[in-house]
Amino acid sequence: MFPMSDSKNTDRRTFLQTSAAAFAIASTTDIVLAADSNTDADVISEADCDKTQTQAGKIETLVSKVDVLVVGGGTAGTIAAIQAGRAGAKTLILERNSQLGGTGTTGGVAFPGLFDAWGKQIIKGIGWELVSDSVELDGGPLPDFSKVPARHWQNQVYTNQFLYAILAEEKCEKAGVQIAYYEFPQAIQKTADGWQVDCIGFGTQRRVLCKQIIDCTGGAEVVGMLGLPRLREKETQPGSMLFKIGAHHRPGREQVHRLYVHGADSSNSRTVTRANLTGRKEVLKKVRQTKKQLMHLQPETGFRESYRIVGETMITVDDYTSGKIFDDAIAYAFYPVDIHTKTGVRPKPLKRGTVPTIPLGALIPKDSKNIMVAGRCLCSDRLANSGLRVQASCMAMGQAAGVAAALAVQKNTTPLAVPLEEIHRTLKAHGAIVPS
Ligand SMILES: Cc1cc2nc3c(=O)[nH]c(=O)nc-3n(C[C@H](O)[C@H](O)[C@H](O)COP(=O)(O)OP(=O)(O)OC[C@H]3O[C@@H](n4cnc5c(N)ncnc54)[C@H](O)[C@@H]3O)c2cc1C
Repeated sequence: MFPMSDSKNTDRRTFLQTSAAAFAIASTTDIVLAADSNTDADVISEADCDKTQTQAGKIETLVSKVDVLVVGGGTAGTIAAIQAGRAGAKTLILERNSQLGGTGTTGGVAFPGLFDAWGKQIIKGIGWELVSDSVELDGGPLPDFSKVPARHWQNQVYTNQFLYAILAEEKCEKAGVQIAYYEFPQAIQKTADGWQVDCIGFGTQRRVLCKQIIDCTGGAEVVGMLGLPRLREKETQPGSMLFKIGAHHRPGREQVHRLYVHGADSSNSRTVTRANLTGRKEVLKKVRQTKKQLMHLQPETGFRESYRIVGETMITVDDYTSGKIFDDAIAYAFYPVDIHTKTGVRPKPLKRGTVPTIPLGALIPKDSKNIMVAGRCLCSDRLANSGLRVQASCMAMGQAAGVAAALAVQKNTTPLAVPLEEIHRTLKAHGAIVPS
């Protein structure tokens, strides 16, 4: 099946940019007063929002001046933001849902992998720190990575999704990362030294002035808003709704039940609504069939596949299955080629000893400046993507993007122009494993 190019963005972009003219702001400091001339907006500083009671019916207008904006607080985005913050960048993370962790928490895929390959740990750093801290606090077991398991999934790490999400918030706070839930970008444009991103939430609108963007939305949504090309298959892998019936769910100790949601599409609120309604209807059917109690239900469908960027480097399935070490490799990855279809999945394991790598170029949209992606939307062909999309790899990409963005800010340059040795050195200083 051939990927389609995403070409419908120009009109939408024009509309969004025009509507964004409603903001009229002059600001150089962080979170300052904003003047909005044509809406019923409250002009208020964020610090004051906490102290004063917002008037009913008024929209708060905020301005955030930051170095790095991370859009999407999921598997990759959480790690990207913590890393950027720890590397000294003033960082804001926007998440359209109510918590951090994305597919690993809200979607319920609380069994991240794979941090190891062939008897050795190959991914560490901030993702591993968060996963292992949450397992330790939860009193759960960690797999023994010195053993090569009979089946790849046996070395996935069971995490308590609730604890993971709270610990992620704590680590963001300690790294000085500001979190904005229920917000998402509505319009974006270039400025002299970066970006102006106008965001909307309920009862709030926020103008973000930033130097670097890391798009961790899963489907490269910011890249799409910019009109940069993205790839998508005509038919994508099914999503899944995760639930448990008939027995208590023990978080951090087991997987839950799951059923496929065919046609699940994470593109926008309409398609996500449809996937959730379809998934929940199927759960209801199961409850009626089994006459057992519904004990656990995730609030959102988990999505396996959507858009991928057209990047500086495309990872092909041959690169992936041969374990190509890219010149600009920033992390290892490990998982079988794993395409789910209408009838299920037959993972194709990698040949013994093979460990693929991820190049920085796969995180950078082609011919772009000052925007990167991390997570399942990296530039890869469909088969390579089916292995690269897993959580440990997404976390490693997030960490690398966080480092590249923070260094680009420090050096007043673009991520691609940051010397690779410095990216590697900083990654290692923050605990990551870098391919050699
Ligand atoms: C059912 C299922 C089973 C899986 N099994 C495994 C497994 O066994 N092991 C494994 O490691 N991986 C597994 N995966 C894959 C893995 O979980 C995902 O590919 C990975 O978590 C994706 O990470 P991400 O950061 O790219 O996206 P996500 O974790 O989905 O994060 C994207 C975040 O961006 C937010 N967002 C989206 N759009 C916007 C916007 N416009 N503004 C603000 N926020 C936005 C979303 O709310 C979300 O929080 C599975 C996936 C599914 C669905």
